Amino acid sequence: MNFIPKVGDMINFTVGPVQSSAIVRTIGAQNVPYFRTAEFSEVMLENERLMLKFAGAPEGSRAVFITGSGTASMEAAVMNLLTSEDRALVVNGGSFGARFCKICEIHGVPHDEIRLEVGCKLREEDLAAKNAKSAKGTCGNSEGKGYTAFIVNMHETSTGVLYDMKLIGDYCRHHGLLLIVDCISSFLCDEFKMAEIGADVMITGSQKALACPPGVSVIVLSPRALERVAKNDPKCMYFDLKDMLANQDRGQTPFTPAVGTLLQINARLREIESAGGVTAEVQKAKAMAAYFRSRIADLPLEIVSESLSNAVTPLHPTNGMSAYDIFLKLKDEHGIWICPNGGELKDKVFRVGHMGCLAEKDYDTLLTALKGIMKQQH
Ligand SMILES: *Cc1c(COP(=O)(O)O)cnc(C)c1O
Repeated sequence: MNFIPKVGDMINFTVGPVQSSAIVRTIGAQNVPYFRTAEFSEVMLENERLMLKFAGAPEGSRAVFITGSGTASMEAAVMNLLTSEDRALVVNGGSFGARFCKICEIHGVPHDEIRLEVGCKLREEDLAAKNAKSAKGTCGNSEGKGYTAFIVNMHETSTGVLYDMKLIGDYCRHHGLLLIVDCISSFLCDEFKMAEIGADVMITGSQKALACPPGVSVIVLSPRALERVAKNDPKCMYFDLKDMLANQDRGQTPFTPAVGTLLQINARLREIESAGGVTAEVQKAKAMAAYFRSRIADLPLEIVSESLSNAVTPLHPTNGMSAYDIFLKLKDEHGIWICPNGGELKDKVFRVGHMGCLAEKDYDTLLTALKGIMKQQH
């Protein structure tokens, strides 16, 4: 297996891990330092400060860094914020929405799902329908509905559908629901400010638009979320957010974190800050997505999402070719990774990402390869 040497020659358009900037890669080549030091604490305190800023978090919010992929933070959020006394409404439009349902199930959090067809956005009617159905009032919120919390993946990466966060935020405000948002693939790609939306929890991960190696995820908690964390007593040790918060007060973590990745995250956050912050970063993803999308018109490809994120373009080959075969051909014959889909969508849909260190010339290379592959079929 020649896996490692080959990575340098591949172009990566997947949804993570994605291509990193030079400084992030340089840090990855170095030894990992000892971390119970004032120097590392400084790094962690700056990581928290920049994350709160980039998340547009309300005054009094906190951020913790979990050594574990994005799913670890999804699970930690549910375990620490919700209990069997809650009732959550979960948007399930694909595999990441389904994952939240499973987490609620495992941890005994009562929940209902809003099921969406592949590629469909969330509509006002979908929310209204749920409201009517649950008008029993077991949890005593002001509207007399049963729900206490709302859980959503802002961008359902598996199908490439971006949800209307203003619609969701307004709904949650109106009904007094705690709002937990998985922004793992939308952070730095699509505009989102916790305070504006009224979100209580924002989750992201190191290997998506943060463009660092996988292994670290981040939970940003609003004051209201922090209150819940303080009064809940989750049955776990590693994922205890109270413990993580107490340690992060001094820029530390309860256990050995992915020290090297946290240093890379620091370099990347600083890089974003000096290049114009989140707005500039979102603009960059938007420009890459627009460049690619404007050049596929003459290819037998159809975009299959009602509401696109800047992070990903989900595509269906209309010439009868298998989407998975296109993925394999690009990988094996052209040195290009795109993102295949799983399950029912395996042969129908592939995704092209716009996260990480990519330039227009990379898309030119991809487009040329796609043209060659898709012509063979005619
Ligand atoms: C990538 C991703 C995750 C997390 O996946 P991990 O493999 O655990 O890092 C969760 N939610 C969404 C929307 C994602 O895109």
